[in-house]
Amino acid sequence: MSLTRQHALDIDASDPLAHARDRFAIPEGIIYLDGNSLGCLPRNVASRVAAAVEDEWGRGLIRSWNNAGWYTAPQRVGAKIAKLIGAAADEVIVTDSTSVGLFKVLAGALRMRPSRSTILGLHGDFPTDAYIASGLAKLTGTHFKRVDGGDLIGAIDATTAVVSLTHVNYKSGFIHDMRAITEAAHAAGALIVWDLSHSAGVLPLELAGLNADFAVGCGYKYLNGGPGAPAYVFVAKRHHDTFDHPLTGWLGHSDPFAFADNYEHAKGMDKLLTGTPPILSLTALDAALDAFDGIDLHQLRTKVEGLTSLFVTLAGERLMRYGFTLASPRDSHQRGAVVSLAHAEGYAIMQALIARGLIGDFRAPDIVRFGFSPLTTRFVDVFDAAEVIDDVMAKQAWDTPAFKSRKAVT
Ligand SMILES: *Cc1c(COP(=O)(O)O)cnc(C)c1O
Repeated sequence: MSLTRQHALDIDASDPLAHARDRFAIPEGIIYLDGNSLGCLPRNVASRVAAAVEDEWGRGLIRSWNNAGWYTAPQRVGAKIAKLIGAAADEVIVTDSTSVGLFKVLAGALRMRPSRSTILGLHGDFPTDAYIASGLAKLTGTHFKRVDGGDLIGAIDATTAVVSLTHVNYKSGFIHDMRAITEAAHAAGALIVWDLSHSAGVLPLELAGLNADFAVGCGYKYLNGGPGAPAYVFVAKRHHDTFDHPLTGWLGHSDPFAFADNYEHAKGMDKLLTGTPPILSLTALDAALDAFDGIDLHQLRTKVEGLTSLFVTLAGERLMRYGFTLASPRDSHQRGAVVSLAHAEGYAIMQALIARGLIGDFRAPDIVRFGFSPLTTRFVDVFDAAEVIDDVMAKQAWDTPAFKSRKAVT
């Protein structure tokens, strides 16, 4: 028997996290399955940012660095994220973009393994991670080596300074075995950097329990911090003294307002700071993270598996006959919060879906990607999404020149 809309509504009715959706302002008339690219707007953000603009900036002016908590925002917001990634409050700081954060920790890691020459990564990982690693390799005279996922552990050897990879693949949603890979890196004397952009806010993480060395992650996807929200960086406490930060800006100085001629690094995570943080964006992220208050991360994970499994089942029942193939793991335990379907006409199909109010995204060359952000997605949205896709495919509504013409952001 095939699944009905009532079945999806019944699951929503017993979903212990259903109430979290009310914490967000979600537009009427759309099904938003792209929280993996840009999370929805939490309701408390607009007023909080307005207050930061009008009161703190407008009236408080320069005084707000001390009086409105601006100066300590990178640490304060970092402490909120620490709870989501299983780290101590003083092991996480929010600063710059994920790309820049990755540069910082990779460069620091290379300096901790001066006799080793290789950064080891994966084919098919998020491009910026590879671009940063290869740029850094060029700068430092080291080597950026990439292998396929299944070969990773075997490729870690005595030349490997640092292993760098994304825990949950951005395109397929495949979850790498964090514990096994971290242990293999350490057994070979290498360090490890995890990119958690598609993990935090999707599943429980235990960076401390895993003995991970470094991590970075994005603020605007599942953490809902808004477009261009700053990213977070984690450095394990045992490395705080030895970590030699490469981007030595004034705010990473031990006493920035001494305006000393020479750099002397701050203690702990503070040295990871470089320049003045984007306070308005940090304010938005700070407020947005309150949407996770009281959320049990194990329930969150269960919901992600339920949402993605429902979609995979519906796709099997209704969509595969149109030439889609599943480009994500079939086993829900191996899957993060995205389900990708491959189709040669993927770009035009996604444009047609967006025109019908179903918003996902397209990833070259042929991936139609749907993200099931667990705080904002209902099971009935999954059902309705499958219905819209079925209809667009049945009517070949994607087959128009307008939908085939590529925009800058896909
Ligand atoms: C989204 C994402 C990024 C984003 O990097 P920015 O510097 O914030 O643009 C980096 N890495 C991964 C794995 C991502 O998914």
